Amino acid sequence: MATRLNRGVRRGGLHSRSDLCEYERLSKWNQMMTDASIRERLCVIGASIFARGLTFGSTGNISVRHPDGGWLMTPTNASLGELDPARLSRLDESGQLIAGDKPTKESFLHRAMYEQRGEMNAVIHLHSTHSVAVSCLNGLDQHDCLPPLTAYYVMRVGRLPLVPYYPPGDLELADAVAALAGKHHAVLLANHGPVVAGSSIENAMYAVEELEETARIYLMLRHEDTRPLTPEQVEAIRRRFGVA
Ligand SMILES: [Zn+2]
Repeated sequence: MATRLNRGVRRGGLHSRSDLCEYERLSKWNQMMTDASIRERLCVIGASIFARGLTFGSTGNISVRHPDGGWLMTPTNASLGELDPARLSRLDESGQLIAGDKPTKESFLHRAMYEQRGEMNAVIHLHSTHSVAVSCLNGLDQHDCLPPLTAYYVMRVGRLPLVPYYPPGDLELADAVAALAGKHHAVLLANHGPVVAGSSIENAMYAVEELEETARIYLMLRHEDTRPLTPEQVEAIRRRFGVA
């Protein structure tokens, strides 16, 4: 675990500028997206997330809205590091499997987010170490788990509510996520990890990365005299960039 954690810390930074430009270019969601290109993109991003230690084993799952309706989703018991484009779960608009392997057992988290946020085209759920660590702390503000330490966090994540703990597979968790997803594209599941939606798979990835990095910074600063952004500074960012 220590090795994995160290690897995550070492590799957990943001992409280089050229990588970011490449992702921005590819994030024009409605342009030229085909079944094959979405499958390819989902697998590349899964591999990138896994290689940087942002999730591990067979944890974490990704879904993308399909241009022909329904979704593509990562299969159950699949490592994000070794996804096969041909075996991704293809779900119809009612969530039924129509091709590929059985979807992740956490598919209900994705459905809950999409049902509340029709404008979102991708959802990523990870067991990313620092976000999970924060989700296990006592005394979190249930309405906003992390302070606004940086402008990018405010822009990419915004307010982060805590979803109460439910055992694995408990469908009440879907209701709890749905109750918050209408107002929040990112939520933190207590003792579990983040669920983040984006207008594209790239934007979902940027947001979940920003959340993980901010969780890491928060833990680094927990016992330091820290000055988060003021409410006025946060409000100015929200106005300028049109974030909720
Ligand atoms: Zn999970």
